[in-house]
Amino acid sequence: MKNGVGAPLAAIAVIVVAGLATYFAGRSEAPVEADAPAAPLGEVASAPELGPAVSAVVGEGGVAEFMLDNGMRILVIPDHRAPVVTHMVWYRVGGVDDPFGLSGIAHFFEHLMFKGTEKIAPGDLSRIVARNGGQDNAFTGHDFTAYYQRIAKDRLPLVMELEADRMENLNLSEENVATEREVVREERNMRVESDPTAQLREQMSAALFLSHPYGRPVIGWDEEIQQIGRQEAIDFYTHHYAPNNAMLVVAGDVEPMEVLDLARETYGLVPARELAPRAHPAQPPRLSETRIDLAHADARLPMLSRMYRVPSYKSGEPGTAEALDMLTAILGGGATSRLYRDLVVERQLAVSAGSYYDGSSASLGEFGVYAYPRDGVSFEQLEAAMDEVLAEMFNAPPETGEFERARTRLVAAHTYEQDSQFALAMDYGVSLTVGLTVADVQTWPDRIEQVTPEDVQNVARTYLIKKEAVTGTLSPLTP
Ligand SMILES: [Zn+2]
Repeated sequence: MKNGVGAPLAAIAVIVVAGLATYFAGRSEAPVEADAPAAPLGEVASAPELGPAVSAVVGEGGVAEFMLDNGMRILVIPDHRAPVVTHMVWYRVGGVDDPFGLSGIAHFFEHLMFKGTEKIAPGDLSRIVARNGGQDNAFTGHDFTAYYQRIAKDRLPLVMELEADRMENLNLSEENVATEREVVREERNMRVESDPTAQLREQMSAALFLSHPYGRPVIGWDEEIQQIGRQEAIDFYTHHYAPNNAMLVVAGDVEPMEVLDLARETYGLVPARELAPRAHPAQPPRLSETRIDLAHADARLPMLSRMYRVPSYKSGEPGTAEALDMLTAILGGGATSRLYRDLVVERQLAVSAGSYYDGSSASLGEFGVYAYPRDGVSFEQLEAAMDEVLAEMFNAPPETGEFERARTRLVAAHTYEQDSQFALAMDYGVSLTVGLTVADVQTWPDRIEQVTPEDVQNVARTYLIKKEAVTGTLSPLTP
């Protein structure tokens, strides 16, 4: 992102879209990559697969998915409340695809995509979008890189043309690469080196994921960013930036066929390319708890946090990620959650406490708990209290009232999110890029309704294993 490396993603889960999941076959298009995302799950399993050789339309007047001849996926989310569109291109490439020794190249490359083409001067794409009343940006995660514009619907052809142009004709000059390297290093400096919380998080992730690339920062290690040159950038572009590795998401005041026709005239003209196969690195077992204690002069507040590797929506058995979403709602979602009530309100050991679950990843997800101690409270005291709250969760299922209130809050938050066209496009984009389906997205509220209090107890006991976790503390360093 010009303004950050996929920062909001931890807060985004799979979403809710109303509409019947009635699938029917659309027009037939060309075959696609063999490793295309999986078929729909559950009740729609007999419907045409959304991957190879098929286009499908989902829901009457609802979300539609297509495939161009060159293998580019298209998702249209009609939203007629205002004459605007959110136009996004998602590439199935991210930090996990950074070659060994070149961490940060996926994010670096995101910056290079703004450096112009034969037709467009460096920085002009954003200027053209702004001149037409729109906004644009991009972001990079471990599993994806995405570019977007939010603009009046009559300017959709313009942004599609611009985006298709840089998919194929980017100007990767020595000068562009050298200039942007310094911009990226400065971004790292601002976002990580000058933020002790980000530094602790980076160190903890590296420990948690061992050799799996989720342990490498998306922004890259500075020493490795410095190794990225023009040839590395050209190789990355050639192997990952192609229509057959991309998905177009258009949410807004449009009809699916209108978008398909425009896509054929723009993205449809970009030839498919042979892609570098994606690696599937192992998630090695963690045999022992790791502790990282960071003392830093710039730290303002002491903080205790713990990270666990847990299943994601993609990697987990059916129902597991849903139960983990319910677990974090009960344990750490807001002022009525257990961690907050116990550590902040009742025992007054912390000024804040909570938990999070990021299940929107292609491989394992991450679960975290954290608390900020009050003055005079030691990390030992706080951690012991946190472990007691967790132990209660392991020992008994949540009682019905607490469980139902948490579920209502969780589903309501997602329903509320539907009001944002950008959030809708974002959630479909993340979900489909990590290998989930439109049906997975649409059936999410129903699946949350099926989670039981015993399921929540069960995932807590099964996955929040302290000896496989990484626990970190951050302390202000007083001179
Ligand atoms: Zn950036």
